[in-house]
Amino acid sequence: MVAPVSTTWLDPFLEGWRPGTGDPLEDREPATDLHLLTIPASTPDDVARAAAAAAAAQPAWAETSYQERARILRRAADIYDAHREEFGAWTMRETGAVHSKMHHEQNFAYQEVLNAATLPSQPYGSLMPTAQKGRLSMVRRVPVGVVGAITPWNSPTVLGMRVVAPALALGNAVVLKPDPQTPVAGGAIFAAVFAEAGLPDGLLQIVVGGADVGEAIVTDPNVSLVAFTGSTAAGRRVGQLAGGLLKKVSLELGGNNAFVVLEDADLEAAASAGAFSSFQFQGQVCFAAGRHIVHRRVAGAYVDALTAKAKRLRLGDPYREDVQLGPIVNAKQLARVDGIVQRSVAGGARLVEGGTYEGLFYRPTVLADVTTDSPAWTDEIFGPVAPVTTFETDDEAIALANASEYGLVAAIYTRSTSRGLALANRIKAGMIHVNDGTLNDEAIIPFGGMGASGNGSRFGGEANFDTFTEWQWVTVRDEPPSFPF
Ligand code: NAD
Repeated sequence: MVAPVSTTWLDPFLEGWRPGTGDPLEDREPATDLHLLTIPASTPDDVARAAAAAAAAQPAWAETSYQERARILRRAADIYDAHREEFGAWTMRETGAVHSKMHHEQNFAYQEVLNAATLPSQPYGSLMPTAQKGRLSMVRRVPVGVVGAITPWNSPTVLGMRVVAPALALGNAVVLKPDPQTPVAGGAIFAAVFAEAGLPDGLLQIVVGGADVGEAIVTDPNVSLVAFTGSTAAGRRVGQLAGGLLKKVSLELGGNNAFVVLEDADLEAAASAGAFSSFQFQGQVCFAAGRHIVHRRVAGAYVDALTAKAKRLRLGDPYREDVQLGPIVNAKQLARVDGIVQRSVAGGARLVEGGTYEGLFYRPTVLADVTTDSPAWTDEIFGPVAPVTTFETDDEAIALANASEYGLVAAIYTRSTSRGLALANRIKAGMIHVNDGTLNDEAIIPFGGMGASGNGSRFGGEANFDTFTEWQWVTVRDEPPSFPF
């Protein structure tokens, strides 16, 4: 099936869309290198203006009734739903996503807004016992103010929506900066949907640009919370800048995720999940399976099954052809992926399948006998590569799984769910799945990682209150107390 070519609802908005006053920024389709649109990029001065406008609009929004905030979010969900095919087409064209990935992302972004619409009506504090007679004591959650949202190119719609929707629902304003490779899927869609939904002016500001624009958001005095999703390297820089300013910061970063296959696993099911977890969307997802840790007794059969699946995958333009893998997002990233594969093979890893490319299309690659000092093992590859190593005891499997600075997600395949759970209890990761792939998320779940995968913050579900509000203690007395001074 090929996506509809028409892009009708967004077109009038895009014709007048000027997200900045800077240099022209060209939006291109990685699969074909076709030009999609050119827009003026934002500058640090544009960020300052956007953040000031957001800060000016936020207090009235925080005082808007919970019914009205929920109504606007529900309306945004309906508008999103009505145009999701068109939005999906932009996601495919800007990122090279295949249909299944695009549909998942569109549905997930929709679920994020729906879920956010329930937040305004939740209780937002507690009445507290107090040691002081005649005093009313309450703790309540108040909006942080202006949220600076910085998102990567790889799932621009859902990663933006998981910040924008709950942040707005809880009474904040937002300055959103998508990656410059996805200005429409990560930026324009949000502006158009929320404007149509009736969000008051000023509350959602979209700026488009690179690291300089991102840093301007992080350091802007009107921005109270930085909600960053991206690489660990950029996240460290963002964390340092925000820390110096004593600013609240939520960092959702990279991963190098363990996929553990025990000797009693259903191997066909494990290989299917392993292949999907490593190759879906060309491996360009934070929760891709980056390290296959397989019991020595079944490793040969597992690698054979993984290889058979890799061989069958069709590559091509995901927007116009019926394919299972699209392009790597750009030439720099492709060179990085290939460099990791070639250096790993030179260091002793066995290239079983793939390791070749044409244009931006990299063949799904299986590497066996990978050692723990190999770049394919230590680095987040962000490409369609499945590195496999072996273990003999459960202790060895756990040691291998935990031997990474990252801790985003892990998966364990075994016919014994109690053994799977026992192993899960020993793995350092923010999310663990027994008998399922690593690519899992739901809007109601606090999503995030440990170690170098983040700073312990989460997006989603109950965590939205922790992330997008601050605690405030308020006491009230009818009669002022007397003091010794
Ligand atoms: P990236 O870090 O290069 O860019 C992410 C965003 O940060 C972009 O908008 C970019 O312009 C901006 N940016 C870059 N440097 C910045 C700086 N110094 N200050 C402020 N902003 C800056 O990441 P990418 O290559 O676009 O995305 C891939 C990475 O994102 C991978 O590491 C992936 O694992 C990670 N990721 C994590 C999650 C998660 O939830 N944990 C989800 C998706 C992607």
